[in-house]
Amino acid sequence: MILKYPIPKFDENDNFLKMKYKPADRIQDLQYFGEFGGVNPSISDSSTYTFLSAKTMFDTFEGNAEGCYLYSRHSSPSNLYLGEALAAMEGTETANVAASGMGAITSVILQTCKSGDHIVCSRTIYGGTYAFLKNFAPQLGIETTFVDITKIEAVEKAIQQNTKMIYCESVSNPLLEVADIPTLSRISTVHELQLVVDNTFSPLSINPQKLGADVVIHSLTKFINGSSDTVGGVVCGTKDFINALRNVNDGAAMLLGPTMDSLRAASILKNLRTLHIRMKQHSKNAAFLAEKFQQDGFRTVYPGLESHPGHELFRTMMNEDYGFGGMLTIDVGSLDKANDLMELMQERNLGYLAVSLGFYKTLFSAPGTSTSSEIPLEEQQEMGLSDGLIRFSIGLDNDIERTYQMMKDCMVEVGVLKSELA
Ligand SMILES: *Cc1c(COP(=O)(O)O)cnc(C)c1O
Repeated sequence: MILKYPIPKFDENDNFLKMKYKPADRIQDLQYFGEFGGVNPSISDSSTYTFLSAKTMFDTFEGNAEGCYLYSRHSSPSNLYLGEALAAMEGTETANVAASGMGAITSVILQTCKSGDHIVCSRTIYGGTYAFLKNFAPQLGIETTFVDITKIEAVEKAIQQNTKMIYCESVSNPLLEVADIPTLSRISTVHELQLVVDNTFSPLSINPQKLGADVVIHSLTKFINGSSDTVGGVVCGTKDFINALRNVNDGAAMLLGPTMDSLRAASILKNLRTLHIRMKQHSKNAAFLAEKFQQDGFRTVYPGLESHPGHELFRTMMNEDYGFGGMLTIDVGSLDKANDLMELMQERNLGYLAVSLGFYKTLFSAPGTSTSSEIPLEEQQEMGLSDGLIRFSIGLDNDIERTYQMMKDCMVEVGVLKSELA
């Protein structure tokens, strides 16, 4: 039961980013109660729903009975609660949750593009998305041109007669390139394309929809859930698009079936309540370490550093409260050194040698041999994905100064940093 659902109001002339009504407040203001007045909504524990009249069942199949549940692959109360909270966060009309980030991404692509269509996509994206567009989608007659998304001329040049979509990540994986969403949106409008933005790396910090994106996707697996205990995804967009995804006759989400379970939707909703606090701490810790690593002489990539080519652009797009996010990369010169350092840091309990991101503990991996290994070696080199690159998802460490000192000791021991005493 939703007692109060404030629809965010956006003044046409007001700059959204300066508004007092911030994304975290919009989540906080959503009030759900359980059926017995519980402070959390009840978890819906049914796959199917009864109808009082046969006529209503027919209308629901025809898509004409808003508020009626039909079957839980279509929608369920728990999934709708989580979806509405995420829509409030992104400022979109509504949202549809999925069983994984890839479930959300592939549904959007297959809903929008049919055989003979074409996509312009950033070349630095999540490895699974890259593999889907490069290896799987062509089997269905959907072709993709991969471009350097920071080069607007390259994006425009790649657009063809049959292009339907520009796809990018607001902050890219793993190179942390920043997409110019307002400019990409203008190009999309001119060419009548859908601008689809995966915002997994920058929840709360960036609101792609407010900057002109048509569809915003998240892997909930990462920062949003934040406890590395489940996979999940969401598509945030207009009512029309989300209804199309759920359509019983030709909706990709309905027919491909990447449905989140209600129990999981309920647990992710509870974790979403603390996202703003967590993002502030992830960003604060990452900014501290990025400064230090850069001073120590490592090639450090963090959008919060002035040395980052996308720093100013990020600044113009961001909600300042939440900082520049928890992701950073450093280059320690070679894969062997990277592996030695990661193993030692794990031994000292500074974090885990693991893929994924957004956990309370720092996670690190070498993208070239893990999450981006789907990308052929030559292409990795071309895009600046070097061997010695370590990707960090910085944790919620209480004393980041202490963490830094301990990391520094590890760096000296594996020989990637000179000891100051030597
Ligand atoms: C992890 C990730 C995905 C895929 O999400 P899953 O929940 O693992 O399916 C998509 N995009 C980005 C940027 C990711 O980090």
